[in-house]
Amino acid sequence: MSDVEFSKTTKIYDDGTHALDSLELKINEGEFLALLGPSGCGKSTALRLLAGLEDITSGEIRIGGERVNDLPAGARGLGMVFQSYALYPHMSVRDNLEFGLRRAKGGMRVDEAEIARRVDEATEMLDLGMALGKKPKDLSGGQQQRVAIGRALVRRPKVLLMDEPLSNLDAKLRNRMRFEIRRLHEMHGTTTVYVTHDQIEAMTLADRIAIIADGKLQQHAKPLDAYNQPANSFVGSFLGTPAMNLVEGEAHNGVFRAGDLSFDLPEHLAGWQGPGIFGVRPEDVRIVDSGGTRFRVGGVERLGGEAIYHLEAGGHWIKALWHRSGGGLSSAAEDHAELNVSLAVPTAVIFED
Ligand code: ADP
Repeated sequence: MSDVEFSKTTKIYDDGTHALDSLELKINEGEFLALLGPSGCGKSTALRLLAGLEDITSGEIRIGGERVNDLPAGARGLGMVFQSYALYPHMSVRDNLEFGLRRAKGGMRVDEAEIARRVDEATEMLDLGMALGKKPKDLSGGQQQRVAIGRALVRRPKVLLMDEPLSNLDAKLRNRMRFEIRRLHEMHGTTTVYVTHDQIEAMTLADRIAIIADGKLQQHAKPLDAYNQPANSFVGSFLGTPAMNLVEGEAHNGVFRAGDLSFDLPEHLAGWQGPGIFGVRPEDVRIVDSGGTRFRVGGVERLGGEAIYHLEAGGHWIKALWHRSGGGLSSAAEDHAELNVSLAVPTAVIFED
């Protein structure tokens, strides 16, 4: 197991695409890090550079303190799990698990007894006992994914790399495997770098998240810290469903104005003067009996345990999340065509970007 360090790591593809721009990122030994961002932001590129599947344009990557820029992929001691499980279809599950160990060279070689020990251990951890003699095509998607994880783990990788490993699974199985992957991480404790565009996966799985947009690191933080103190409006709106409400405008003397919309700022933001992007999470929007700002109820999405209210004032739309067990809105709100809304909540933020 090792730590990983990206240092000013930059990737410009031959066609001139700037995929990764001077990434600075340290992943501690044993840590589970999620590389999170929208499609095309450069997260897979970062993973491929770490894996040695692409050359670095400039900067450095270190694994366990060792500079690996020029080390071939096979010599980096990494385990990889991809979206397509890439299992050998003609081999049994047991053979798939053993294959990498049998082919290992040099210092990575292990004897038959050790192969058996590691495969037994993985089989138990991944609950694959009943599947050992089967071929991959006879397994469920979740089982195939577990074999792919097992195959990576039996090699005792310094770092486990996972690239969107749950994307091929249906929603229900994805939720279960997400839980499973976290549980497994707690058992094997291998340093893990996990690429995903799914903020829920990143939030629930990772010890820390590195959020990337346009090849640049936006924030590197624990999931809840990034959620509660987003570094910029991109992070604020990327984490959370529904997304954070963002209103671009100007603050003066404790009042925020955006065209025809104006509202009081909470105390901690009252000192802000000048332009900014006001952000408030839907679950924090408050309905008040008096005061606040008058919003029109434009629509309600009822999801059962919760409802999303679409509210409009001065041409600006915001969302408010009501939860049955006592969220931001009162249950009476849906009977009203208009509501008094207070955005002066302690969790509100103003971004400079
Ligand atoms: P992500 O994994 O976040 O979806 P990628 O790291 O795959 O994004 O890609 C980042 C950017 O680099 C995108 O603009 C993508 O089109 C571009 N890109 C990826 N691979 C190549 C390549 N081999 N040649 C040229 N451009 C590439």
